[in-house]
Amino acid sequence: MSQFPQHKARKRFGQNFLHDAGVIDRIIRSIRPRENDHLVEIGPGQGAITSGLLASGAQLDVVELDKDLHPILMGQFGFLDRFRLHKGDALKFDFRQLVAGDEKLRVVGNLPYNISTPLMFHLLEQSDCIEDMHFMLQKEVVLRLAATAGMNHYGRLGIMVQYHCRVEHLFDVGPGAFNPAPKVDSAIVRLVPHATLPHPADDVEVLEILVRDAFNQRRKTLRNTLKALLSAEEIEAEGIDPGTRPEQVDLAGFVRLANRLARKRSASA
Ligand code: SAM
Repeated sequence: MSQFPQHKARKRFGQNFLHDAGVIDRIIRSIRPRENDHLVEIGPGQGAITSGLLASGAQLDVVELDKDLHPILMGQFGFLDRFRLHKGDALKFDFRQLVAGDEKLRVVGNLPYNISTPLMFHLLEQSDCIEDMHFMLQKEVVLRLAATAGMNHYGRLGIMVQYHCRVEHLFDVGPGAFNPAPKVDSAIVRLVPHATLPHPADDVEVLEILVRDAFNQRRKTLRNTLKALLSAEEIEAEGIDPGTRPEQVDLAGFVRLANRLARKRSASA
């Protein structure tokens, strides 16, 4: 039963509300909100995590799309000056507008699973104003985010997120912690944007294209998957065996290949 029986969970908004007090407490302890933090919660829903975040004394901005939840949230937290509700779509939200001076935002959310990947990329575009992010996601997605070369779940998503952030898979959460229960397991992940990129690419868009092509057919060798972009000799010149499969190449290797491709393109332009 929902804590707010007047609200029926909506599938199209990816609504799976957390009700397990132990899990909520563990999430708050992982985030460790501090009084001077500027927190942002995406999709506060009926406020399951929101109360614990506000208990720290921090400033909290929340972004919620479902109109029916706005009065519930304002009824619970609207009396606090340090609580601000933004009514709208987090995918279109300009997070930079919340930043005052040189502060950085700490972003949190039990994300609607249907938009979690585009939302992470939307946030990564604004990562210069983000200190860290804690998200509840499908466990499968967290495994992909955290996987490194040679691991089962390694691929495009993990490479592009690890380009921007340090990724930590914190803990798993079973379906029973939510109402309604999702069909899949979930997990909490921490993403910390790098202050300095460990493997900077000359052109991130070229890196994206190269990684996308490389993993289009993950069982094939680089010689095959990259043949429209780089020759076997060019791959080899970057210290990578063209007979390797993409899942064996680490982020540093992909960045070297992307930088070679970027140089080749600008030379022929
Ligand atoms: N935080 C609550 C909890 O843990 O119980 C709710 C989590 S529920 C998985 C996802 C929340 O995100 C819902 O409240 C939903 O209405 C909201 N939501 C869905 N799409 C959204 C969007 N594009 N922008 C902002 N909020 C969104």
